Amino acid sequence: KSGFVAIVGRPNVGKSTLLNRIVAQKIAIMSNKAQTTRNKIQGIYTTKEAQIVFIDTPGIHKPKNKLGDFMVETAYSALREVDAIIFMVSADMPRGRGDDFIIERLKTADAPVYLVINKIDTVHPDDLLPIIDDYRQELDFKEIVPISATEGNNVEHLLETLVNDM
Ligand code: GDP
Ligand code: MG
Repeated sequence: KSGFVAIVGRPNVGKSTLLNRIVAQKIAIMSNKAQTTRNKIQGIYTTKEAQIVFIDTPGIHKPKNKLGDFMVETAYSALREVDAIIFMVSADMPRGRGDDFIIERLKTADAPVYLVINKIDTVHPDDLLPIIDDYRQELDFKEIVPISATEGNNVEHLLETLVNDM
């Protein structure tokens, strides 16, 4: 089994952190600053039965200028070539315009979209259900997986789910 998976989400939700954890090496630049990772960064996850290439797409948020427009178009065109899309949001930030902009674009995607709710270590378990309900009204997700990229919670389950669906 093999395939390409794009990770999309507004800045600071933890895309690079997850990618780093998955490939277990520092191939993505982690930073609190938005848009430090300008290029597509690919990480490869390999097991005996599967190989998944992950694509970090940092340019996928509301463009502020013409260069931004170009970056967003480039990033979205990459989505046409993947087998699955991880839409990552953060449990410690309310759904905002940055999320809604991405959701609108994902509505026309062909690949299945997985909602990954990151940073569950920052919220009480009871607060998770309202977050899930909020997002699932916006898009038909293949699967909803809460994780903590820093703690590693549920990351293995996410990988198994992706591999099983391929
Ligand atoms: P990106 O912009 O989406 O690539 O986000 P980064 O991976 O650069 O992460 C942004 C910030 O969130 C960093 O300070 C990370 O350490 C932090 N972060 C990422 N994942 C988690 C998590 O699961 N829990 C917590 N508490 N912080 C996280
Ligand atoms: Mg990043």
